[in-house]
Amino acid sequence: MVSRVIPVKAFDLVVFGGTGDLARRKILPSLFRRFVAGQMPDNAYVIGVARSEFDTNGYQDLVIAALQEFEPELSASGELKSFIKQIQYVQIDAQGDLGWSDLAGIVRKDAIQAFYFSVSPSLFGPLAEKLHQYSISSKSSRIVLEKPFGRDLNSARALNAVLKEHFSEEQIYRIDHYLGKETVQNLMAVRFGNMLFEPLWNSQYIDHIQVTVAESVGVEGRGSYYDQAGAMRDMVQNHLMQLLCLIAMEPPAKFSPDAVRDEKLKVIRALDPINSKDIVRGQYSTVGTEKGYLEAVDNPSSKTESFIALKVQISNWRWAGTPFYLRTGKKLKARCSEIAVVFKETPHSIFGPDAGSHRNALVIRLQPDEGMMMDLTIKEPGPGGMRLIDVPLDMTFAEALGPEIGAVPDAYERLIMDVIRGNQTLFMRGDEVEAAWSWTDPVINQWVSKGTSPVSYDAGSSGPEDSMMLMHRDGRKWREIS
Ligand code: NAD
Repeated sequence: MVSRVIPVKAFDLVVFGGTGDLARRKILPSLFRRFVAGQMPDNAYVIGVARSEFDTNGYQDLVIAALQEFEPELSASGELKSFIKQIQYVQIDAQGDLGWSDLAGIVRKDAIQAFYFSVSPSLFGPLAEKLHQYSISSKSSRIVLEKPFGRDLNSARALNAVLKEHFSEEQIYRIDHYLGKETVQNLMAVRFGNMLFEPLWNSQYIDHIQVTVAESVGVEGRGSYYDQAGAMRDMVQNHLMQLLCLIAMEPPAKFSPDAVRDEKLKVIRALDPINSKDIVRGQYSTVGTEKGYLEAVDNPSSKTESFIALKVQISNWRWAGTPFYLRTGKKLKARCSEIAVVFKETPHSIFGPDAGSHRNALVIRLQPDEGMMMDLTIKEPGPGGMRLIDVPLDMTFAEALGPEIGAVPDAYERLIMDVIRGNQTLFMRGDEVEAAWSWTDPVINQWVSKGTSPVSYDAGSSGPEDSMMLMHRDGRKWREIS
């Protein structure tokens, strides 16, 4: 099977923050891969913009070094030389006048214009204002925004209001890179492209759903940012919430931006407020010579959580009575993101009590090894009695789709090309983001007002013991983090 590549139209992609970590690690390598795949045409340009003093040659050297570091195999091909010819640079001060006339002279009016704000959110407003003031953007330009989109409802509202002064909602692309992951999109394909699952996709047949996003790394170099955010703001309000929406939403009438986003919004609005007994917050502690969280963020009195587990209920006809268990954390035993849809047991076992209890589970693995797995119950082989065992029907996409399809594309490749194509389906709408903050704000405010501290868990474990209890007390258990 060969992946189809349809080249996009001529574009100018201006990357504000073009010298930053995200640009070097994700945005530029993703563009390079799309270039090599034949999707980025010869008349498309990437214009790096940052505060640093570079000329275009100097910036091209930075891009080459980034690609050699983060895309070493492809960089060794002859394609790098051709790609680099399509890279330009402008030095700009987002808050002053330096460089803006130069940028205005470069960005073409007759090509698709996309402005990627890969900078601190405090610069989103000034950038939008300057693009307008220097007549660089037009009614058809697109702006792309990185997370975090606010730190609570008020700041998200203020950010939306500032952007809307110069750009309409149809021009604003709020990135949640989880939505660009192949498996996440496959969740929609599996639900709405097969007859098999949708009739069973409700509280009558599904016992519960678990979503795990586990990281094995700690806060690394992001300590000061992370300590102000914590797992609830950094992961649950956006990534886990988006996954929950795609699992729980009603079938949209079509796969179009507003049809999908309307259904996601309804899910967020149907979430019950969370009870404090249904939340476990944790902070990783020192094991051996490794730094614990408090040391890593250099804040001995921090009450920020590096782990959170939640039991969430959706009050609507489809999901009443089926809990969603979400957990995410740092310094856990493995890097693993997956969604497990755990079905109910059969209403009656014809095989008697010795057969044990068995539940089918559909597991959607986001990373590593993107794929899907279905736990099926079968007879244990052998001449003994009728004993039942659970076996996985396992499908790794890379194996199932064959080598010609190539590696699973990075989420950023898909999302950047969607910006150029003008397709907002996989981007968050302003009202979705605000609704998500409306749900998380009261929970966070409660911790702050009560001064609640997270419980401690060992680095390299599966998280705090209390998070296991969250499931055990309901007669359920988490899948292994592996
Ligand atoms: P960074 O600190 O590495 O880079 C910041 C960039 O902004 C630099 O290119 C710098 O020159 C530019 N800049 C700063 N002030 C400027 C000014 N006044 N005028 C013009 N340019 C200015 O940051 P980063 O890690 O690349 O992150 C960028 C954004 O993306 C942040 O909002 C971050 O939260 C978000 N983000 C980053 C990651 C990541 O993995 N790095 C992941 C998700 C979201």
